[in-house]
Amino acid sequence: MTDARTDLPTGPDEDQKWADLLSPGRRRLLIGSGLAAAGALAAAPASAQTAPAPAPTAPPHPAGQSPWGYETFKEPATRPVSVRPGEQTLPTAPRPYTDIRSYHAHIYFDEDSYQKAALLRQWAIERFPIELGNWNLQPRGPHVTPSFYFGFTNDLLPVIVPWLQLNSLGLTILLHPNTNDPRADHLHYALWVNRAQPVNGYGLPSHVSDAEIEVIYPNVAPTLRLETGPGTPQPPASRPAQIRGH
Ligand code: ZN
Repeated sequence: MTDARTDLPTGPDEDQKWADLLSPGRRRLLIGSGLAAAGALAAAPASAQTAPAPAPTAPPHPAGQSPWGYETFKEPATRPVSVRPGEQTLPTAPRPYTDIRSYHAHIYFDEDSYQKAALLRQWAIERFPIELGNWNLQPRGPHVTPSFYFGFTNDLLPVIVPWLQLNSLGLTILLHPNTNDPRADHLHYALWVNRAQPVNGYGLPSHVSDAEIEVIYPNVAPTLRLETGPGTPQPPASRPAQIRGH
């Protein structure tokens, strides 16, 4: 061969045979034709057989029956009914925004970001009359990562949304309203700060009675004045509310 490289180390003969056998071109050939593969392997020189390729092992066939039966392949593809509200038929009028009884903010974190969550939680406690929930260190309800929650009344929305936008510390935050449709509240009526993440709507009802719509009972009282720019009056929504039990 005229183009043979003489500056490269040469391996033992056997290595070269394996390299040839497993070269991309050869693999294409093997995949392309089982017959050719059989022939190529049979034609391998006797020396290559001192290190035979491991025989392909088929996984053991499990004993038992599929719980799905054996007819699923016959099921036709059927268009599912939309689960988004207002899509089964076009609504004739918008939904009144006053259907929103209150809001939740769910702040998500993990083992790397929990200190940011702790800081944001402390800042919120100090500034807003909110209903603060537990630390959830495990997935809980529709929330698939660790999280904590605070609820707030509608009047706080125009302050809390921009405040969370500027103070999220990069955490993913789900803001959802509370209406009589908890599934839509979490899946279709939501606002997200930063990236969205999966929400498990499997167990969420799509209708609850008026009496079951989430009501917020603030359980912390603010201790600090909300920071505002120079000359900006304090928004009325940030004034300390009367807290039951305080
Ligand atoms: Zn919620």
